[in-house]
Amino acid sequence: MSVFPTDIELSRAAVKKPIQEIAARLDIPEPAVIPYGRDKAKIDQSFVSSLAGKRDGKLVLVTAISPTPAGEGKTTTTVGLGDGLNAIGKRAIICLREPSLGPCFGQKGGAAGGGRAQVVPMEDINLHFTGDFHAITSAHNLLAAMVDNHIHWGNALGLDSRRIVWRRVCDMNDRALRDIVVSLGGPANGIPRETGFDITVASEIMAIVCLATDMLDLEARLARIVVGYRPDKTAVTAGDLKASDAMAVLLKDAMLPNLVQTLENNPAFVHGGPFANIAHGCNSVVATRTALRLADYVVAEAGFGADLGAEKFFDIKCRKAGLRPDAAVIVATVRAIKMNGGVARSDLGSENVEAVRKGAANLGRHIENVRSFGVPVIVAINHFGTDTAAELEALKTYVARLGVEAVLCRHWAEGSAGILELAEKVAALADSGTADFAPLYSDELPLLEKIETVVKRIYRGRAVTAEPQVLNQLEAFEEQGFGHLPVCLAKTPYSFSTDPRLLGAPENHIVHVREVRLAAGAGFVVAICGDIMTMPGLPRVPAAEHIYLDEQAQIEGLS
Ligand code: ADP
Ligand code: MG
Repeated sequence: MSVFPTDIELSRAAVKKPIQEIAARLDIPEPAVIPYGRDKAKIDQSFVSSLAGKRDGKLVLVTAISPTPAGEGKTTTTVGLGDGLNAIGKRAIICLREPSLGPCFGQKGGAAGGGRAQVVPMEDINLHFTGDFHAITSAHNLLAAMVDNHIHWGNALGLDSRRIVWRRVCDMNDRALRDIVVSLGGPANGIPRETGFDITVASEIMAIVCLATDMLDLEARLARIVVGYRPDKTAVTAGDLKASDAMAVLLKDAMLPNLVQTLENNPAFVHGGPFANIAHGCNSVVATRTALRLADYVVAEAGFGADLGAEKFFDIKCRKAGLRPDAAVIVATVRAIKMNGGVARSDLGSENVEAVRKGAANLGRHIENVRSFGVPVIVAINHFGTDTAAELEALKTYVARLGVEAVLCRHWAEGSAGILELAEKVAALADSGTADFAPLYSDELPLLEKIETVVKRIYRGRAVTAEPQVLNQLEAFEEQGFGHLPVCLAKTPYSFSTDPRLLGAPENHIVHVREVRLAAGAGFVVAICGDIMTMPGLPRVPAAEHIYLDEQAQIEGLS
C-alpha cells in the first residue's frame, strides 16, 4: 500500500506561481501588490479603498458540526471548495483565519488545510507569516505598558489598580503566565498588582482588527477600549490614556489583507484570527469585503461548530459589517458523527451504522439552526478512508429527510477533482436567491435577553442563570450605553450545552453565565459560560518536541 504524503510534503511539492500572477488573475494591479517574499503579499490600502461601491460576489460560509477529536476538516473543506469552484470555471476567493503559534507547537497543529486542499506556503502561514500577530501583540502590550506607566507617574486618571481589566498577551501556550504579579522589586518598578497573560488570539485587538472596516474605524475602536475602572466604577479607555493612535500606527500593515495561493494556484486571503469563544472566530471584515468585490464567490470559514462559529459569523460579523451570506456549507465526517453517537475514539475503525443514525442528530440541529438565519444549507461529507458505504448511506438518508442535500467530497485525497459536485451545487445554491439573511435578535433587545435568545434558539437550553453580580454588571453596561451591542457567548465547542461530555443534540439544559466582559472596542459583550481558557497550556508531549530543521534547513514536523 502506498503511503499518502504528509501535509508538509504536499505543501513543499507545490508548484507555486509568483504571487503577482495570482493577484493579476483578480485584476489587482502590480503596484497594489506588496510582496512579502515571493509567495505572500499584502494588498495596498488605497487599492482596497478604491473597490468601495463595487458589486459584491456571493458569500458562502463554511461551518461544521460540533467538533470532536476525530476531526471535521473545515479549513480543508474551505480550501477544497474554493479550488472546486475555480475548477468549474468560477472566479472564487477563499477567506481563512491566520493560525496561532500556540496550537502549532501544542496539540492541534497548523491551520492551513490538509492533504491536497491546502494553502501555501504552509510553514510561513503557520509560523510568522506577514507579522500580523506580532503587530497585534505589540499594540496590545504597548497599551498594557502605558497603563502601568500611567499609574507609576501619578495616576492622573485615577485608575483603581485593582480594577484594571487590560492584561498582556503573547502568542504561545504558556500556563505559567496565566496569573502573575507585576512591578515587584521596589518603587522604581511601579506599583505591584495582579494581572496575567492571554494568548494573542484572545486579545481584543485581534477582534478589533478583524471587525474594523478601515483605518479610521480601527482608530475609533482602539480609543474605545476599556482598560480599567476608577473607584467610582467609571471606565478609563485607551483613548483617555492617549495610547490608541500609537497602537494604530503599529497596526497599519496588519490591517492589510494577506494574499496567498492554494496547492492548485487559486487565490486565498488569510487574514486575522480571533478565538471563536471569547471573540467572534472569523477572518477579517477587510479581507472578506475585498474578496467579495474581486470575486463572484467568496468561501469563508468560521471557527468551531455552527453553534459558536456560524452564530457569531452571522450575529457579530455580518450584522456589523452589513454582509449578507448567500449559502452555508456544513462540514460533517462519518467519524465525528459516530463520536456524537457515542462511539469511543478507539472504536472509530469499525462500521457502526446505528451510531451514525444517532449522532446525525447533532448535524440535524446545526442544519436547523443555520437555516433559522435565513441562509440555505448544503452538507459536505468530508470523506475519510474508514467510512463505509452503509454509513455514508445512513448519513445521506438522514440529511435528505430534512430536505437538505449531502454531498460526498474527496478533496483531501484528490484536490478539486474530488469536490466538483459540491462546487456545482454550492454555486447553484448561492445563485438561487433563496437566502434571506437576518440576525437572530435585534440590537434593541436588552443584553440578558440577547443571551437568552442564543441559549434557547441555538443551544436549545431551557434557561440562563447568573449570579446577581453578573446581572448587575449587564445592567451597568446598558446604563453606560452599551446595551445595543451584540453578545458573544463563550462556551465549550464540544457540546450544545456547557458540559463538553453531552454530545449529540442535548436540550433543556441550563446555561450558567459565570462572568460578563465588555469589549467596547471590538463592539460586543462577552458572556462566559463554563470554564473558558484564554491562555492555553501545552500538553504533556507538545508538538514542539517533534518540530525541527532537516539537513537542508527545511522545516519538519509541522502538521
Ligand atoms: P478544522 O478546520 O475543522 O479544525 P482542518 O481542516 O484543519 O480542520 O483539518 C484537521 C486535520 O484533519 C488536518 O491535519 C487535515 O489534514 C486532516 N484532515 C482533514 N480532512 C481529512 C480527510 N478527509 N482525511 C484525512 N485527514 C483529513
Ligand atoms: Mg480550521
